[in-house]
Amino acid sequence: KTISSFISTSPASFSRAFVASASPPTVKLLIDGKLVESKTKSFVELLNPATQEVVSLVPNCTPNEFQAAVDNSQDAFGKWRSTSIMTRSRVMFKLQDLIKENMDELAANIVREQGKTFADAKGDVFRGLEVVEAACGMPTLQMGEHVENVSTGIDTYTIRQPLGVVAGICPFNFPAMIPLWMFPVAVTTGNTMVMKPSEKDPGAAMMLADLALQAGLPPGVLNLVHGTHDVVNMILDEPKIKAISFVGSDQAGKYIYARGTANGKRVQSNMGAKNHAVIMPDANPEATISALTGAAFGAAGQRCMAISAAVFVAGSEHMMEKLVEKAKTLQVNEGMQAGADLGPVITAASKERIGSLVQGGINAGAECILDGRDLVVPGYEKGNFVGPTILKDVTQDMECYKEEIFGPVLVCLKADDLDDAIAKVNANAYGNGTAIFTNSGAAARKFQADIDVGQVGINVPIPVPVPCFSFTGSRGSFLGDTNFYGKSGVNFYTQIKTVTAQWRPSDISSGGRAANLDKV
Ligand code: NAD
Repeated sequence: KTISSFISTSPASFSRAFVASASPPTVKLLIDGKLVESKTKSFVELLNPATQEVVSLVPNCTPNEFQAAVDNSQDAFGKWRSTSIMTRSRVMFKLQDLIKENMDELAANIVREQGKTFADAKGDVFRGLEVVEAACGMPTLQMGEHVENVSTGIDTYTIRQPLGVVAGICPFNFPAMIPLWMFPVAVTTGNTMVMKPSEKDPGAAMMLADLALQAGLPPGVLNLVHGTHDVVNMILDEPKIKAISFVGSDQAGKYIYARGTANGKRVQSNMGAKNHAVIMPDANPEATISALTGAAFGAAGQRCMAISAAVFVAGSEHMMEKLVEKAKTLQVNEGMQAGADLGPVITAASKERIGSLVQGGINAGAECILDGRDLVVPGYEKGNFVGPTILKDVTQDMECYKEEIFGPVLVCLKADDLDDAIAKVNANAYGNGTAIFTNSGAAARKFQADIDVGQVGINVPIPVPVPCFSFTGSRGSFLGDTNFYGKSGVNFYTQIKTVTAQWRPSDISSGGRAANLDKV
């Protein structure tokens, strides 16, 4: 069995099933290590964003199927939590090998379902792989603390215990990385997980789950269910689920946080963003323009850490023109095509929304100095392509500034000086990421100190922390208090227990239990 066949009903390889779009394969549920055909009559059609061909049908799983997944995860928990932590982390050692071996196949699936370029899709897998690598160190990460003699003869220590069944709800934009932010940390700390991948591109999560099984993860430790709002509501209301990791849009994230926490669950909710680059006049122009181009338009702007707003501090505006020139050189194409820099956006509705936000900006007085809205890619005329688009003279009251556009669109603002730029960034509702481009250590240090954003880059456009740290978006981009991956991720998936213990030396010298009984 190849990992491809794991996704589809077709006995043929996934690619052949994909081509035979007359009868698209249904995506299976994964329960107790087995693929389960949903009995639902309700499916989401998964369309290739570059071609509109039907890749697969994603089931809206039934309440009974969801319950079977949760009950099975609950059953698996007892044995898994008492499996040694060395054994659990060894599964991660094996998994990281298998992910590397299957990198191309995973990436090809991401291109087909999500649209990003092959190179970018490999990056998607790679950033998730780093979390698997970090989870290999769980015996150290999950260590408690110990203080001897908190009172004479009494010691206090902490242990970090798994919570039980936890759930993950994923977005479409990183179909490999986000599932890998969740399940490696959740299961290696001893939990079992029910995961709901995005209904727009669940293939990579299915493949990763298969690789985890091959790596030795016992059946039931990771179960996958599919669907949209209804299955999310089942997760939110299910008493056996103790914690929920969510990544996605504001609308869903606020709702999931409110209903999940009202039901007594731990919830970590990573949401939308408007990430600003602040360009100082002393910035290295070439490096800055290159960084901005990649960060604004790469992955068709569908990254939660994409630079979507550029604040040009007085004296740096000349870089805007060069940015337009550089952005024009980017090749927009189907993701497997050689030289493609960015692929399509996820759906036709998304393309339409992007277009209308750009038009709204123009109507409100912004100038469109690069317009990619009408782009047609030869051979892929039906694709949801949007070319790099740049709006200048954007002001803070415009919808195109306030809303997360989530497409290859950069809105440009002006600032009088660094203080003005910082004030503008801090006035924005979001706090996911930001970056300053400067050659001044003093400006960078002031920016780092005064900016009210959770992840800061200094001459680094997309400052996503590697997994020995945590992903620390703030303000409107995050709800909860314990972040994804790193030490924080371990804390999220574990309950701390503090033990205070007294053992009297006199009990040893007088013969242990028998002596104690003598005293009673
Ligand atoms: P989305 O919110 O539409 O979907 C995310 C998940 O929530 C999906 O599994 C979906 O089925 C479910 N869902 C959607 N609407 C729901 C609702 N009303 N009720 C219950 N469940 C619902 O997000 P998306 O479009 O898939 O992903 C893009 C968004 O994710 C962007 O806003 C992006 O910034 C954000 N994102 C954030 C981070 C981060 O770490 N901050 C990372 C990646 C993506």
